[in-house]
Amino acid sequence: MKTIDDLELNNQRVLLRADLNAPMKQDANGQMQITDDGRLRASVTTINDLRKKNAKIIILAHLGRPKGERKPELSLKPIAKRLGELVGVSIKFIDDLNDASTLETVNSMQSGEIVMIENIRFEKDETSKDQTERQRLAQKLAKLGDAFVIDGFGVVHREQASVTDIARLLPKASGRLVQAEQKAFDRVLNNPDRPYVVVLGGSKVSDKLGVINNLITKVNKILIGGGMAFTFLKAQGYEVGDSLLEVDRIEEVKQLLLTAKEKNVEIVLPIDIVISASLDGTSSVSEVDFDKIPVGQKGLDIGSKTAELFADKIRDAKTVVWNGPLGVFEVNAFAKGTKTVAQALANSAAYSVVGGGDSAAAIRLLGLDESKFDHISTGGGASLELLEGKFLPGLAVLEEA
Ligand code: ADP
Ligand code: MG
Repeated sequence: MKTIDDLELNNQRVLLRADLNAPMKQDANGQMQITDDGRLRASVTTINDLRKKNAKIIILAHLGRPKGERKPELSLKPIAKRLGELVGVSIKFIDDLNDASTLETVNSMQSGEIVMIENIRFEKDETSKDQTERQRLAQKLAKLGDAFVIDGFGVVHREQASVTDIARLLPKASGRLVQAEQKAFDRVLNNPDRPYVVVLGGSKVSDKLGVINNLITKVNKILIGGGMAFTFLKAQGYEVGDSLLEVDRIEEVKQLLLTAKEKNVEIVLPIDIVISASLDGTSSVSEVDFDKIPVGQKGLDIGSKTAELFADKIRDAKTVVWNGPLGVFEVNAFAKGTKTVAQALANSAAYSVVGGGDSAAAIRLLGLDESKFDHISTGGGASLELLEGKFLPGLAVLEEA
């Protein structure tokens, strides 16, 4: 796969598709504020390297799902400002790609200069299912650049104008972030050191069955917590009270448990559970054995014995992939399991990869040191699809001639 080291960039206009889709919140003055700039920080290395190579940088990115409408609250303006602060140079903003002045602005850029084009999803062609519509936008974009660099790992699982269609019109390469993501996932998918442990949590088992199906042929142990654990417990015949349960997945889960046995993969389920009548932490909270969840109570975190058990398994591992919080970590009363397990992973010598938007957010929210993990993926959906063994169009297009 070509990287930015393989492109001629000196004095060239480079269209950089980044993932700057940061969570935002309106402040008291009605201004949109970034609540977590992790994705912006993850994009800085490529921008700096492109500047070192004397490129002119035109950033393409999206925010939220405006569905082809110009929504002021989804403007990239605050993102351009913050990214400029992180890179140390102010970023010129292009309000509307379709303005006649856009081409002039781009053609008068100096080497090292950066411009950002307004939310590309304000263009309805960006996410169209119709390829000719997407190509129409891609052609418009391609006129603004001499080369294309994809660095938005969070969008590489999408067939979209600024991701795949434009890549077919210009010399193309991957940026540093996409390179780093690919390297980490290649290692855990194709070349892991053993013992290899996967920790899975999150709310829905249906979201994670594809991952389990793919990884069950590669790993030694699968530790299961979060809301998905209850469908596993139910599949083994235990009652789970009012906990999250996907009844229509029980058969599939039973099958997975059999496959695991055949392949000698150890599936580790919670041995105790933190329960409460309500999700917001306002009802009384207690800890019970996994087979004693009363009717009317929900399991909202793994219990302390389970957290220690998971931490032990992580300590013995040489490779760990973690996807999905082990409890409702957003509420203090249910965050302990996720924190204990994440801390064990941070302290372990294993090669550690964290995938999933909420898992990455949990690491930051719980105040853990991000540098202690080998790789924290910036792409929720894209990382899941890679773990499922799927073909990602935004990466595949880079291999095309
Ligand atoms: P990721 O984005 O890391 O892939 P998911 O989106 O699958 O993770 O799941 C994250 C959500 O799962 C969190 O909002 C968390 O509150 C929820 N969750 C975790 N454990 C439980 C549980 N026992 N019951 C209900 N929700 C849970
Ligand atoms: Mg999520």
